[in-house]
Amino acid sequence: MEEEYIKAAKAIKQADYLVAFTGAGISAECGIPTFRGKDGLWTKFKPEEIATYQAFIRNPEFVWQWYIMRMEKLKDTKPSEAHKILAEWEKKGILKTVITQNVDELHQKAGSKNVIELHGNIWRIKCIYCDNKKRLKKLPKSMPRCDKCGNIMRPDVVWFGEALDPLILQLAFDEGLKSDVMIVIGTSGVVYPAGHIPVRAKTMGAFIIEINPEESAITPVADVYLAEKASVAMKKLKNLLSSL
Ligand code: NAD
Ligand code: ZN
Repeated sequence: MEEEYIKAAKAIKQADYLVAFTGAGISAECGIPTFRGKDGLWTKFKPEEIATYQAFIRNPEFVWQWYIMRMEKLKDTKPSEAHKILAEWEKKGILKTVITQNVDELHQKAGSKNVIELHGNIWRIKCIYCDNKKRLKKLPKSMPRCDKCGNIMRPDVVWFGEALDPLILQLAFDEGLKSDVMIVIGTSGVVYPAGHIPVRAKTMGAFIIEINPEESAITPVADVYLAEKASVAMKKLKNLLSSL
């Protein structure tokens, strides 16, 4: 195992274009449940009852209550050590970009600037009718209404069955293809098209480092697989880097 860490640290040290690709697992240590895995959100709720456009239209108040509950929790949540190390690496010029599937904004809270949010952001809302977009200044108490047309506002996140913003997706693929080393943290890798990004990077010659306590759909393409929690593995890599 130690050897694998050294291999990963050396790859990071020598990287010309290091990119991080993150999923819900990097926020798990902050107390934000993942979707899959043993304490995952979907063990408590069915996805089709909450995270689809159809479910929202059927019962927007219910879906909003669920989102408000998540926002309440998130507002006081602090980024993990793993988020912080990624931000530190960006500042030092070691890391170029974070591509995330998370909607929680914890990368930015940790100080990361160059973040591509593939699945939106829970703190943004948009009108289902006129596409009016807003950033929430404070937590809504109930379902917000559009100040332009009066229609229902929804969270500006990508739900199941919805397409990703093509420009953001293109940007993420471009960054992925530019990377010669990609560090993949806390994702099951089964949500597409996001999950294709590390696989595509690998086919273009990138060295893939994966951090996840459980094997994922990315593990078969990983050059180094670190079976550890995000913060534990990142702290180890950070220490190793400073000794290389
Ligand atoms: P996922 O729930 O499918 O997978 C989470 C992965 O994280 C699992 O493979 C699990 O083994 C791993 N994991 C759990 N604890 C970990 C830890 N401490 N360190 C490292 N890895 C750990 O999540 P996903 O792959 O991101 O995809 C699902 C979708 O979930 C995404 O579209 C995302 O938008 C959404 N989501 C986001 C959040 C968030 O913003 N925090 C939370 C839940 C789900
Ligand atoms: Zn509107």
